[in-house]
Amino acid sequence: MGKPIVAIVGRPNVGKSTLFNKIVGQRLSIVEDTPGVTRDRIFGDVEWCGKKFSVVDTGGIEPASKDIILSQMREQAQLAIGAADAIVLVTDVRSGVTATDADIAAMLLKSGVPVVLCVNKCDQVGDPPAEFYEFYNLGLGDPMMVSSVHGYGTGDLLDRICELIEFPEEEEEEGEIIKVAVIGKPNVGKSSLVNKVAGENRCIVSDIAGTTRDAVDTTIENTFGTFTFIDTAGLRRKSKVEDAIEHYSNLRAEMAVERADVCLILIDGEVGFTEQDSKVAGIAHEAGKGCIILVNKWDAVEKDDKTMQEMRTQLEKDFSFMSYAPILFISAKTGQRLDRMFELIHLVASSNAMRVTTGMLNDILAQATARVQPPTDKGKRLKIYYMTQASTKPPTFICFVNDKELFHFSYQRYLENRIRDTFGLEGTPVRMIVRERK
Ligand code: GDP
Ligand code: GDP
Repeated sequence: MGKPIVAIVGRPNVGKSTLFNKIVGQRLSIVEDTPGVTRDRIFGDVEWCGKKFSVVDTGGIEPASKDIILSQMREQAQLAIGAADAIVLVTDVRSGVTATDADIAAMLLKSGVPVVLCVNKCDQVGDPPAEFYEFYNLGLGDPMMVSSVHGYGTGDLLDRICELIEFPEEEEEEGEIIKVAVIGKPNVGKSSLVNKVAGENRCIVSDIAGTTRDAVDTTIENTFGTFTFIDTAGLRRKSKVEDAIEHYSNLRAEMAVERADVCLILIDGEVGFTEQDSKVAGIAHEAGKGCIILVNKWDAVEKDDKTMQEMRTQLEKDFSFMSYAPILFISAKTGQRLDRMFELIHLVASSNAMRVTTGMLNDILAQATARVQPPTDKGKRLKIYYMTQASTKPPTFICFVNDKELFHFSYQRYLENRIRDTFGLEGTPVRMIVRERK
């Protein structure tokens, strides 16, 4: 089990984004290593009363017209129902209960996923305004008075969320199910791959009844282990607006990635690399997940004995920001190399969860700094006192140094590579946190 996910849904302009920023702190913009890729991170980490979960803002696009708000909201809610452990439905006390609110509330209620009803823009402290009471009609229990702008009521909201979520046990068991997200632009063969895998392996029907997500995820068992393929296909309804299609397909991918241990990044072997592929891969990379690049439709590619190596060399350049990710050439149609794929999934999942002892880490540090001296600036040399692993998934290392400014990216990369040389860490990003200690 990963961290529970709480999804914020609601009509445009009710204050979802404001609430998100209030509870996770300022929204981070991600500037990826890939040129021209900047986007807002829609997931944020929250720790409240010792409980950890992540929050996702499902909003983000302005519907072009009134008549499509409802269909977009249904799509948003459907995504949240499929992926979230709890949902916050945000409404606006100023507009009162709208028909759209009622429609979405009914959908959420039917899904069985725990819901917290947030009545936002209650900016006056004290007794609720008269309009507040009509929100009881939505049938979602006691509405909560919140002012996201002022931060009133957000603590109570977080308390309520924590009451509703079932948090996983602290220590995860060994040999558990590996969660896999299959991502990629349209038509690369995501559904074909999942269907092939489901067709050729023993499928397990989850007997843990409960959330609707059991219905959309596929769990299989084979000689390599037990794997859950997270549904990313979701609804295939066409949206009238181009932007909306892109927004929802990204949102769907991000939700799946967040729940996954390993991401299979599919690209179309017949087409080769495109910018969109690196955007998709960037989602998995930023989320710190295990990553495997799968070149699909290999059966349909006209090739000689050099084609694979040439393409691999090119892809290593295209995906240079995630040089740790193995590249495998497969066919979802014929099943070519799917055994190797499962082996890699296993390997990458264990790299992503790897724990390195502090003693070994500092041995590597001592050797590395002896071999290549740390950088200096104006007569001052970087000193790295100590390194320790702070967390897993992805492996995250804290370095205590004399001066942060001196710890250039290139030296960080050098250390990272020395750690990789020793421990492998195939397929997983690693993170470095730098702390100054005078
Ligand atoms: P979203 O479209 O649901 O993400 O809504 P936003 O977070 O972008 O907010 C829409 C507008 O409502 C913005 O102008 C916010 O400043 C405003 N707003 C959000 N929360 C509150 C609130 O608690 N009180 C008041 N008065 N305005 C709010
Ligand atoms: P998705 O949109 O990523 O889920 O892609 P689909 O699974 O729907 O596949 C898109 C198209 O590519 C379909 O016509 C598939 O039959 C075809 N396709 C998928 N995988 C392969 C493959 O390995 N080889 C070949 N030749 N065609 C494939």
